[in-house]
Amino acid sequence: MKLSITKAKQLKPKPDETQLGFGTKFTDHMFNMDYAPDQGWHHLRIEPYASIAMDPATMVLHYGQGVFEGLKAYRTTSGRIQLFRPLDNFRRLNRSNEILCIPRLDENLALEGLKELLKIEQDWVPRAPETSLYIRPTIFASDPFLGVRASHTYRFFIILCPVGAYYPEGFNPVKILVEKDHVRAVPGGTGEAKTLGNYAASLLAGQKAHDAGFTQVLWLDGVERKYIEEVGAMNIFFVIDGEVITPALQGSILPGITRDTVLQLGRMWGLKVSERRISIDEVLKAQETAKLQEVFGSGTAAVISPVGQIKYADRLVTVGDGRVGPLAQRFYTAITDIQYGRAADPKGWVVPIA
Ligand SMILES: *Cc1c(COP(=O)(O)O)cnc(C)c1O
Repeated sequence: MKLSITKAKQLKPKPDETQLGFGTKFTDHMFNMDYAPDQGWHHLRIEPYASIAMDPATMVLHYGQGVFEGLKAYRTTSGRIQLFRPLDNFRRLNRSNEILCIPRLDENLALEGLKELLKIEQDWVPRAPETSLYIRPTIFASDPFLGVRASHTYRFFIILCPVGAYYPEGFNPVKILVEKDHVRAVPGGTGEAKTLGNYAASLLAGQKAHDAGFTQVLWLDGVERKYIEEVGAMNIFFVIDGEVITPALQGSILPGITRDTVLQLGRMWGLKVSERRISIDEVLKAQETAKLQEVFGSGTAAVISPVGQIKYADRLVTVGDGRVGPLAQRFYTAITDIQYGRAADPKGWVVPIA
């Protein structure tokens, strides 16, 4: 890999690890590369973190042709830094690229670039319990052109930000609102891509849910508005009468890596695990017959997010006893223990950096 490295002249002061929050502080350097039709992906470089000057006609600003990923680097108890399933993120980035007409990149090359960046930014991986360094690889269409077509040129970058514990006040269940008016995605659309427009399209429903006192939106399918898809920007799991159920991937659901991790661990533990259609009616019926044991979201940021209450039309239902269920707790502990090197890695998910 031909990689040029330009170090920052002055390093930023490291933030207070007890006040990290999410997505506000960025490290000293970033990884960049460019795409041009005659050169492919080229000019791999690590440079000081800096703003990007762009022509006002830059295509991503007008037509949203862009994709991204989200993963984390963890500091283990012995001080080592490691990634969790990073190649799966770059594979998913390529799947998003296909859907958005963006040229594929070499997944191993992208991972090598990330590793080099992390070696330089090692000190930015926080040490406080349950903190991590969030990694945001992004690709955007960079042609200065106002016609509607796929861009010919692209920029890929990776930026890093130290993030605080997701549950500083403990692992608490959230209240979610089933969305009946807005939909996130439809089969044949872009729902399975991590692409800009999906998030813009989810904001209004998210804002309404927040205003009504809910943490997240529970999305139903865009056709029948009956089957459950996702919760906010997380995948969702139900535990009904001992069966662990998550909606099957049918093109409109983002294929979460945490979702896949939960499925693999559940199977390894001998649980009854199903990927299938699940309707909101099935969930409500299960609650009426006291068989709805647990509901939880899954995603890189929160790992597992237990759901305590669900509102659908004028019904507010409590899941189980409204507290964190045993499986949500078990998955959360098992996954974070692997990520932070506190437990053995049963599936070769962990990739050490330095
Ligand atoms: C990123 C994302 C997820 C979760 O994916 P992970 O790989 O588990 O982080 C789920 N749904 C949406 C819409 C997402 O953007």
